[in-house]
Amino acid sequence: MSLKGMVSIVTGSAMGIGKEISLRLAEEGSNVVLFDIVEKVKDTLREVKDRGVDGLAIVGDVTKRVDVERATKDAIDTFGEIDILVNNAGIYPTKPFLEMTEDDWDKVLNVNLKGTFLFSRSVAKHMVQRKYGRIINISSNAAIVGFPGLAHYCASKAGVVGLTRAMALELAPYGITVNAIAPGPIETERMSTSSSQQADYQAFLRAIPVGRLGKPRDVANVVIFLASQESSFITGQLIVVDGGYTVH
Ligand code: NAP
Repeated sequence: MSLKGMVSIVTGSAMGIGKEISLRLAEEGSNVVLFDIVEKVKDTLREVKDRGVDGLAIVGDVTKRVDVERATKDAIDTFGEIDILVNNAGIYPTKPFLEMTEDDWDKVLNVNLKGTFLFSRSVAKHMVQRKYGRIINISSNAAIVGFPGLAHYCASKAGVVGLTRAMALELAPYGITVNAIAPGPIETERMSTSSSQQADYQAFLRAIPVGRLGKPRDVANVVIFLASQESSFITGQLIVVDGGYTVH
C-alpha cells in the first residue's frame, strides 16, 4: 500500500496516536507535515526524516483559523500539494456533567470538532482543485457509547462523525474521500503516566473481547488503508478500532 511521494498533514502529531500515524505514513513513503500546539512536534520531524522521507513541523492551534490556513499554505509552498489530511488533534479532560462549565464545553468542542472543520475546509479547497484527496478524522468509540465525565467529549466525537458524513457527500464529486476512525482505549505516553487513566484502563481491559488495550499502531494501520488508493470506494464511514468493546 505504497504512499510514495504523497504529502500528508497530521494534526496533534507531537505524541501519542498522531505521532504513530505520522511515522507509519513516513514508512509508506509519504512526506509528512506535522502540526501540533507543542514544540515537541519538532522531535517527531526528526523521526519522520529518519524513515527516508521529507517533512515539515509547524507549531499551531487547530482552533485558530489563521494557524490552520498558514499551515495549509506552508505545506503547499513546500511540497506543491496535499494528498492526505489526518485530523487527529484532540483533548479529553474529564468533568462530571453537573459541574461542567460553559468554558469546559467550549474548549473540548473547539479543539475536537471546530478544529476538524477548520482544517478540513482549508485543505479541501486545495484538494478540490486537484480532484484528489483523502481526509481521515480521528473520532472515538465515545461517539457510539456514553462515558461518564465525558459529555463534552462524547458530543464532540459524535459531531465529528456527522461532519465526516456530510463532507463525504459534498466532496465525493471531486475525488475526495472522507472517513472517520473510532478508536477504543489506546495505550499512549499520556495514558501510561496518568494514574487515574490507568485505573480506568484496567476496567476497560475487562470489557475488551480481544483481551488487550489498543496500541497507537492499531489506529495508524487503518489510517494507512484509508489514505491509500485501495480504499477509493469507501467514503463517509466510521471504522471502529476498539477490540470489540462496543459490541460487547
Ligand atoms: P495525546 O497523546 O494527548 O496527543 C494529542 C496531541 O494533540 C498533543 O500533542 C496535544 O498537545 C495536541 N493538541 C491538543 N490540542 C491541540 C490544538 N488545539 N491544536 C494542535 N494540537 C493540539 O492524544 P492521543 O491519546 O494520542 O489522542 C489522539 C486522538 O485520538 C484524539 O483526537 C483523541 O480524542 C483520539 N482518541 C484517543 C483515544 C486514546 O485512548 N488515547 C481513544 C479514542 C480516541 P497537548 O499535549 O498540549 O495537549
